Amino acid sequence: MSTKMTIDGNTAAAHIAYALSEVAAIYPITPSSPMAENADEWANQERKNIFGQKLRIAEMQSEAGAAGAVHGSLAAGALTTTFTASQGLLLMIPNMYKIAGELLPSVFHVSARALAYHALNIFGDHSDVMACRQTGFAMLASNSVQEVMDLALVAHLATLKSSVPFLHFFDGFRTSHEVSKIDMIDYEDIKKLVDMKDIEKFRARALNPEHPQLNGTAQNPDIYFQGREAGNKYYDAVPEIVEEAMQQVGNLTGRKYNLFDYYGAKDAEKVIVIMGSGAEAVEETVDYLNAKGEKLGLLKVRLYRPFRSDKFVKALPKTVKYLAVMDRTKESGSLGEPLYLDVVAALAEEGFTGIKVLGGRYGLGSKEFNPSMINAIYNNMGGENKNHFTVGIVDDVTKSSLTVAEKVDASPKDAIRCKFYGLGSDGTVGSNKNSIKIIGNYTDKYAQAYFAYDSKKSGGLTVSHLRFGDTPIKSSYLIDTADFVACHNPSYVTKYDMVSDLKDGGTFLLNSIWKPEDMDKVLPAEMKRIIAKKHVKFYTIDAIDIVSKIGLGNRISTTMQSAFFYLANVMPYEEANKHMKEFVVKSFSKKGEKVVNMNFAAIDNAIPGLVEVKYPDSWKDATTGAEVKAVTDDAYYKAFVEPMLAQKGDDLPVSEIEADGHVPTATTRFEKRGVAVNVPEWIPENCIQCNQCAFVCPHAAIRPVLAEEATLKAAPATFTTKDATGFKGYKYRMQVSALDCTGCGSCANICPAKNTALVMKPLDEALEKGEDKNWEYAVALPDTTATFNANTVKGSQFKQPLFEFSGACAGCGETPYVKVITQLFGDRMVIANATGCSSIYGGSAPTCPYSKNKEGHGPAWANSLFEDNAEFGYGINLAYTYRRNELKDVVTALAEKCADSDEVKAVCEDWLNNMEDAEGSKKASAALLKLAEGCKACGCDCDDLCKQIVARKDCLVKKSVWIFGGDGWAYD
Ligand code: SF4
Ligand code: SF4
Repeated sequence: MSTKMTIDGNTAAAHIAYALSEVAAIYPITPSSPMAENADEWANQERKNIFGQKLRIAEMQSEAGAAGAVHGSLAAGALTTTFTASQGLLLMIPNMYKIAGELLPSVFHVSARALAYHALNIFGDHSDVMACRQTGFAMLASNSVQEVMDLALVAHLATLKSSVPFLHFFDGFRTSHEVSKIDMIDYEDIKKLVDMKDIEKFRARALNPEHPQLNGTAQNPDIYFQGREAGNKYYDAVPEIVEEAMQQVGNLTGRKYNLFDYYGAKDAEKVIVIMGSGAEAVEETVDYLNAKGEKLGLLKVRLYRPFRSDKFVKALPKTVKYLAVMDRTKESGSLGEPLYLDVVAALAEEGFTGIKVLGGRYGLGSKEFNPSMINAIYNNMGGENKNHFTVGIVDDVTKSSLTVAEKVDASPKDAIRCKFYGLGSDGTVGSNKNSIKIIGNYTDKYAQAYFAYDSKKSGGLTVSHLRFGDTPIKSSYLIDTADFVACHNPSYVTKYDMVSDLKDGGTFLLNSIWKPEDMDKVLPAEMKRIIAKKHVKFYTIDAIDIVSKIGLGNRISTTMQSAFFYLANVMPYEEANKHMKEFVVKSFSKKGEKVVNMNFAAIDNAIPGLVEVKYPDSWKDATTGAEVKAVTDDAYYKAFVEPMLAQKGDDLPVSEIEADGHVPTATTRFEKRGVAVNVPEWIPENCIQCNQCAFVCPHAAIRPVLAEEATLKAAPATFTTKDATGFKGYKYRMQVSALDCTGCGSCANICPAKNTALVMKPLDEALEKGEDKNWEYAVALPDTTATFNANTVKGSQFKQPLFEFSGACAGCGETPYVKVITQLFGDRMVIANATGCSSIYGGSAPTCPYSKNKEGHGPAWANSLFEDNAEFGYGINLAYTYRRNELKDVVTALAEKCADSDEVKAVCEDWLNNMEDAEGSKKASAALLKLAEGCKACGCDCDDLCKQIVARKDCLVKKSVWIFGGDGWAYD
């Protein structure tokens, strides 16, 4: 018996893994973490597996540790699983060889994720799982949330029967985080499929002193090779065992699977071979194009290892002339990507010579893969026949990419598609997850939700993509044709193109303080033209006003959710209202009745607050409206950052990207995000000039100004100052960057003044007072560093932070420390950063919060892996120690060569004596460099030595190597 539930892929995998496991040794890594979190939650709720026990979860110190624990637990006879992805999976590889070599049945569930090459990427592709294809694990691919549930069960049944461990994988984020309405498989039904004799056989092999044996011998040339071949028969048996398990699951669920599943025209000449979520989009496109008279096909690879070439060719239609084999990975320098090579080998082995095989790469790091691109792949077959092609990017360097000339909308006609533009942490994603569950659980409709995020920890853009309809949804790609678009943040109207994707007659809902009559002025001309030309039904709602009157501050998500249900017409509004309130009770009952009632009011007050904007027909030709303010003319920002911030990064061609992945620093200063609702207003008469507000600010968005009175002659009118305490002749001011502030209020909370000197006021008020201009003026004032002692709380804050406006969460408790470290050491810092929070707020494209001083000096930053920042930093330190010692030899040689010159000798000795002293080396380096640059080849043959010093001038000043993130923060 099965029930329908609206869940994501991670939950589906965890549901099966929990049922059939006794132990899970884990280490969390995105996007696999929710599998372990779900399992942990269920264990805490005393959920029982099919053996009537709760799962024992052990969190280890790393993925390498988790794999070791899995190995040990299996060796001792417990059914053991794990969940992982990306470089975490790679850390498991050494143990995977052992687990496979010892024929220990297990399933590793992997939400496949890109590997860190030139850059980290937390999103989905098959680079990680493809790096495991040689370990001896069988590999089974699931393409959708439903398939995750079904094939996870196949994997567990097949591993028990075959003794070969399985890697069950599905696409990170696209499938692991897609919420979809699926059929659940009941534990009682699972129990019926398990052959307990398989488990008894496995347990009988367990390490046990009652019947001891030795595993893992060291073997010599005499028998090792034979031992490697002895396992063949187990692998030979796997395909049939998997087919049998697929049959069992198919009989139970009615959903049939094969090792290779063909879909499409029986007489197709062009077939795409693919595995993972992309297969869903191909299936949808095949339906669409075949309905228009094409004869196209799709071959889904399910059991990738062991790869059965006979079953592969048997699954193909006899008519096939072209195969496009799509790999979601890249192996630089290879003859082709792995699936392509397997297909070429399979056809050769089976004697198929007349088929043209083209290899293609797609979807790396969750790059979009949609019907328009799939259409281009079919057009390439029998057209240009480009081999080793890419699709979804513009490769203007090596010209690998296919041209996507035509927009194809292959979704079912009855599908309703909705997009929601929210601000990270504003509740939009959470309320949309509830909405899709309401639609999935309380209507007959199929439902799907996917959430796209930018790389800010919070306060960034989120776009929720919701689909629902009467036919199954296979659209494993973002919505590019929408029936409904909601914008939850008014500042987005000049930042993002939100209405181009709307269908003719679609609905646009805007949360804003603006009245209908204001819209002509506050919306950009292009937006107005699109709205009018597409006959968009346009509504506005002042959700902030509604929720702040209720006492919910700026938490607008339930109000916007209520407006969505009212306008989208997916179910009777009264019913939706009831279910939204049920979710409110579920989410907030722990916080008390008052909070529940406030959220009820937020739902009920939405509809009276909705106003339709009746715009004039003249908007079709609008030429005036809100202007997008240019924040900088910086060439890098214009060419690279601006398109990415405008969500147009997909359009950047390969030629715009640095091959080694490096980017310039000091670019968050150009963003001017303006995400705060309220920003601090300084009340000079109350201020005691302690600088504590600046010290605690996580975003370096409030800074003290210390300026000589004479330098303030051109100050803007609202640039109020007061006499600086302890600095005669100087003026003091506390300046906020209103457009960089996140509105966390930490500064106002810390202010120790008797009558607070910082009051949070609406952002618009600060801008009306010209605080953005005041900021620009303040940061351009002359440097007064020499005036104060920077080694105090107060003094440090007068120094320029070389870490500013990061993507950290509002109120972050970590970044104030990063900031003050850069104020003290930033001009000579090198940072070795672990992967994690600090690498995301510190190193996420497109902008960099590590900044530069007026000399262009500032922290140099790099990330290696999650767990090796100490070793990485140690390596950096080794290099600088070595390089500076080389320099020491050169300077020593110079001092000896020019021993007759007191000046040269003194300058060299000063540097040699101070080279390990931070401030001392700065002074001595300046003098030495001046000397070396001014070398006149005085006859003492020092010219070459001086040239060497000039060439290595960036090593003269002592470096400060820091290790950030991970298990600790340390420095040399
Ligand atoms: Fe900084 Fe937060 Fe104050 Fe804004 S509100 S200036 S981000 S501490
Ligand atoms: Fe002035 Fe308050 Fe800031 Fe201290 S914390 S400098 S008193 S505004």
